[in-house]
Formats: sequence, C-alpha cells, structure tokens
Amino acid sequence: MQIIGIPRALLFYHYYPLWRDFFTGLGLKVVESNPTNRAILLGGLQTAVDETCLPVKIFYGHVQELKDRVDYLFIPRLVSVEKQAYICPKLLGLPDMVRHSLPDLPPLISPTINFNRRGQGLYNAVFELAALLKVNPLKALYAFGRARGRWRYWQGLQQRGLSPLRALEVLDGKPGVAAIKKASGLRVGVLGHPYNIYDPYINMGLLERLRDMNIIVQTPEMLPPGIIASHVSQLPKKLFWTLGQYVMGAGGHFMQDGNVDGIIHLISFGCGPDSLVGELVERRARREGFPFLLLTLDEHSGETGFLTRLEAFVDTLKWRQKE
Ligand code: SF4
Repeated sequence: MQIIGIPRALLFYHYYPLWRDFFTGLGLKVVESNPTNRAILLGGLQTAVDETCLPVKIFYGHVQELKDRVDYLFIPRLVSVEKQAYICPKLLGLPDMVRHSLPDLPPLISPTINFNRRGQGLYNAVFELAALLKVNPLKALYAFGRARGRWRYWQGLQQRGLSPLRALEVLDGKPGVAAIKKASGLRVGVLGHPYNIYDPYINMGLLERLRDMNIIVQTPEMLPPGIIASHVSQLPKKLFWTLGQYVMGAGGHFMQDGNVDGIIHLISFGCGPDSLVGELVERRARREGFPFLLLTLDEHSGETGFLTRLEAFVDTLKWRQKE
C-alpha cells in the first residue's frame, strides 16, 4: 500500500480530516508528522530562509521529519479557498520553496487550488489527484464527497467548543472524549491563525494554560461562519486575506457582542498579513477600551516573559470582573 504524508503544520489544522479521509478512501495509507518538538523546530530553522515566518520554518521541520517514512508528500498549492479572497503568498509558493530547499524528498503532490480561477477549484484538484494516483475519477469523486461530509461534521464539533485535535478524536469515534465539558469562569477570545492557536509547541501551551486557570477559551474556529462573515461585512473596506477575515470577524464579534472578557491575539514575527490585521484589531480594542494582549511568536520567544505577560493580563481581567 502506498503511503502519503501530510505535515502537521500550517493549514493541517483546517483541512487534515478532509485530505486524510479522501486519500484513505482511495486506498492509500496516510501518515502525519509527529507533533512539533525541538528537533522539528531546529530542522526547520536550519533549512528555511531566514526571512520567512516561524510557521513556515516549522513546516520545513515537519517535512524533514516525515520525508523518509512516505512514498509521497502532500503539499497543495493554496492560492484561494473562497471567491474574491486569497491565502498568504507564502502558502502559494510553499511547494516550490520546499522542493528547492530540501534535498532527497519523495515526489510532492501539489494540486493548485484557486477558487478565483476557472479550472482550479476543489473538484479539479480531485480529478488531478485521481489521474496522478491512477484512480478511477468516479471513485475519487465518491471518496471526496464522503470526506467532505466528515470534514463538515468535524468543523461542527469545533463550533461546539472542541479543539481541532479533540474534534478529530470524536470524529474517529475514540471513547471518552465525546462529552463536551462546560466550564465556568472568565472568558477569553484567542485570535490568530490556526497553526499559532492549536500548535502547543509554537504557543507554549497557551490554551492548556488558560484552561488550567479555569478560563473558557473561544477561538475563531468555534464560531459559526455566518457570525464571522457578518462582522467582516461591517468593515469599511474588504479584506482579501481569508485568514485575516477570520481574525477580524472573530475579533469584531468578541468585542461587539461582549461575549468574552478579553482578547489574546497571537501573531508570528515576520508575518506581513499579521502586521496589518494585528494593528487593526489592536487599534479597535484600544479605542473601545477592551482588554487586549498581543503576543508575538518567534523562535526566540522565552517562556518566562510569555508567562509573566499572560498572568498579568489574566489578573487584570479578574480585577475588572470584581469592579
Ligand atoms: S499568514 Fe503570516 S504566519 Fe501565515 S504563512 Fe503567511 S506569513 Fe506566515
């Protein structure tokens, strides 16, 4: 059986079950890289160009961790995943950057997905993959339809409060995780790209630390897409980055609908879109006097400083609650 590898980084946290179940439905075995660790980070730092952002460097580390265990690596070229919006240019060029920087890779499978160009939508990618893997296109279509249904269910589980990995366990029917706990206490909205929010190595275990403080965490993925879209539509100018829309839409909801006590925004050092979107969200929070903490992540981030700022922020929220 042929093995296809999916790096556990970047948009893994948005799409993994979709692609995993699709390839499994075609009769392939799917493996993912191990959770991010120091060796993966160091591997990425040694091979990626200095100018790129931390999440892309970590992606390189995951590719290296995976490459000798698989027959193919799946690294799609994501241009846009919805009409009239785009994904970051670094994701667009990811297959080329990886191919040219890392030696001895297995063949890369890199369909182009561009909702803004006829002939490059999801179904074209499915047929392209079927041809490449020598699979009957109708079988591929069936596998994709089934995978897409499960992926939507997985997204629904996140909207009920589960993290992507917990939701994956529920999707796979693992016992003991089906009950979604309702905690009580302070509520904090955590904004950022999914790979910053859900990779505990990158963010030094932020979500777990907040939950240990009995804080209820809300993330953009926990919100129904309609809420995000309605807040994005209130912006004076259209934002054409899909990931930026998640942050702006969720941030608007958190501030305007008052359902959290404060916001933590995780951004990556070296990220162009974050530098703009982060500024917009922070300005609005300052204008409205909304408690806001910006945490910038890079390979030099120290745990002590990170923790001090986090604890000070939580203390501020507690004082405000008592007032
Ligand atoms: S959006 Fe920012 S963090 Fe994400 S890949 Fe692009 S530059 Fe890196």
